Amino acid sequence: MSHMKNNGFSTETQLTQLGRDPSKQMGFVNGPVYRGSTVVYPTLDDLDHRRSTFTYGTAGTPTIRDLETAWTALTGGAGTVLSPSGLGSVALALLTTLKAGDHLLMPDSVYSPSRTFCDQFLKKMNVETTYYDPMIGENIRSLIKENTTVLFLESPGSQTFEVQDIPALTQIAKAHNITTIIDNTWATPLFFDAHKHGCDLSLEAGTKYLGGHSDLLLGMISANEKWWKPLRATYDLFAMLPGAEDCFLALRGLRTLHIRLKEAEQRALDIAQWLQTQPEVAKVLHPALPDCPGHEIWKRDFTGSSGLFSIILKPEIERTKLANMLDHMQLFSMGFSWGGFESLITPFDCRSYRTATVWNPNGIALRLQIGLEGVEDLKADLRAGFDRLHQ
Ligand SMILES: *Cc1c(COP(=O)(O)O)cnc(C)c1O
Repeated sequence: MSHMKNNGFSTETQLTQLGRDPSKQMGFVNGPVYRGSTVVYPTLDDLDHRRSTFTYGTAGTPTIRDLETAWTALTGGAGTVLSPSGLGSVALALLTTLKAGDHLLMPDSVYSPSRTFCDQFLKKMNVETTYYDPMIGENIRSLIKENTTVLFLESPGSQTFEVQDIPALTQIAKAHNITTIIDNTWATPLFFDAHKHGCDLSLEAGTKYLGGHSDLLLGMISANEKWWKPLRATYDLFAMLPGAEDCFLALRGLRTLHIRLKEAEQRALDIAQWLQTQPEVAKVLHPALPDCPGHEIWKRDFTGSSGLFSIILKPEIERTKLANMLDHMQLFSMGFSWGGFESLITPFDCRSYRTATVWNPNGIALRLQIGLEGVEDLKADLRAGFDRLHQ
């Protein structure tokens, strides 16, 4: 049961089955948490030939393997490696695919710590990064150089939600022998099938929806046939693995991933549409709504939308009033990360670090993560917050 792959069951059903096998767990529904460094061998001959499923803790444990195999089945990749954080996965994917002297293309809307990794670490390793307009589409051709080896994608973009034309971009990349990596954290494999749309490596922060409860940090990278072995080899060199408890929690999160995402989708859409009618709101940046750059692409390529989106307030609302709104929210908290059961609202301003595009929202920008509180309670909290902008 634990290694089934594309067996014809729906994704919902697979989520209840993947990565566990009661017949090997003394009948218990869930697998145990394996913790461990040393693996012992019964005979010298076994030791000499490293004859065991796992040779040492850094080579993995049954708990890690269960999550890897589940994620591989879900993404349709050839294999998966885990990381202790989403950012760790970004770093590992880039370190697998790049070498000194290479040129990397990064979307201007990329998760900003990924950007810092390029600007501070890859630069030191003599890898040059060029940032591109996430809406560039086929014009990406003009930025390809002789030494361009990796095209990084993130769709929708962090904070500003530009939806990229992934099929067009991956097709051009392939024609130029360029490897594509996507940060698929927002959609997860449930709402966007990255490998089917041509991406070589697909990563995501399991910290967000797979964990789902703001109580763990985790990253996953799945790779296609071409990249699976190099990815695993790089992973083995670093031996940066998540802890067993975090993998166990992620496997637990897997069981409810579908219903949590569906709930997030419906609630976020309800609140986003309500926000469109509020007088303080100038724009709602939600991939499933027409104001979002790339909305048509989202309709074409995605099978759902998750619970994270942004709004832009009307230009006349002064920044000095913002604390009065945000400091007194009853349900929405301020904080980074997302994908948990609790709602968040956080202001952002990408003007200072974008280099390929001009971000000029002409109003205060806020990112919202919609949790599992009652939708009417959340609207009331927002409405009262907007009222405080006028006091
Ligand atoms: C949060 C996030 C990450 C990083 O995940 P961590 O587990 O917090 O390191 C990477 N990409 C995106 C799009 C994210 O939102």
